[in-house]
Amino acid sequence: MTQETYKLAVENLTVAFGHGRRSKTVLRGVSTGVRAGQTLGLVGESGSGKSTIAKAIVGIHPARSGRIRLDGQDVAGLRGRDLAAVRRRVQLISQDPYASLNPRMTIGQALAEAVDPVRADAKKHEATVTRCLEMVSLDGTAAGRYPHEFSGGQRQRVAIARALAVEPDVVIADEITSALDASVQAEVLNLLEELRRSLSLTMLFISHDLAVVRHVSDEVAVLCHGEIVEQGPARDVYRAPDHPYTRLLLASVPSAAPALGETPRVA
Ligand code: ADP
Ligand code: MG
Repeated sequence: MTQETYKLAVENLTVAFGHGRRSKTVLRGVSTGVRAGQTLGLVGESGSGKSTIAKAIVGIHPARSGRIRLDGQDVAGLRGRDLAAVRRRVQLISQDPYASLNPRMTIGQALAEAVDPVRADAKKHEATVTRCLEMVSLDGTAAGRYPHEFSGGQRQRVAIARALAVEPDVVIADEITSALDASVQAEVLNLLEELRRSLSLTMLFISHDLAVVRHVSDEVAVLCHGEIVEQGPARDVYRAPDHPYTRLLLASVPSAAPALGETPRVA
């Protein structure tokens, strides 16, 4: 499969922090991609570099080398207005919406700012704000409230609404349910999946939780110490992992291992 068939592709991406002898290479020539309308699950242990990939894609971490393509166009080197346009098309939702929501801004203002950074006026953008809140099943009164007035699950709904407010093509969900209770996790995941389908979004779904990734992904990529060691259709990776590291990961998560009846029988 050539890279051109990907909606979002990362080619030979290297990211390092620091300089000289203190320099630490976190991603070593990472290549991966996700097809239009599909979900790529990215798994790997804590510290393997998952969030660094997400941040490099949206331009928060500069790439030392490599390419990031959106619809085939290299976006890694873009500046100014072009970069801003690309940033709108690819939205990152992170684990901790508290960190990304300004505590002194109402939810309405936060949504207005997402669609119109210059005139972040909740009144002016009232229709959009209401539509975004409806999309994530929060009622209109949420617009006048502040982040701390919401539960963790509701805040993550707000984060999803804000990401989708700008009508992106691609959503990167980085551990978005990791801080939530199991029942709330399922609610948020189901909501995201519904929206992804109805809006035909392309998604990069990052999680250390292999069971969750299996549930939502078409393909899965496995990251180990800053390198992709395996990528393939989710079914194949989970049923018959190629790489020893993937097998190790799966073995450590009983719920992600092949379900009974799926295991190929050895005569
Ligand atoms: P993951 O999301 O898979 O847990 P991260 O991408 O957050 O992993 O981190 C990968 C490695 O990069 C870790 O060793 C982390 O300490 C390091 N790292 C991440 N961000 C920075 C940074 N801004 N400066 C220095 N090191 C960083
Ligand atoms: Mg992370």
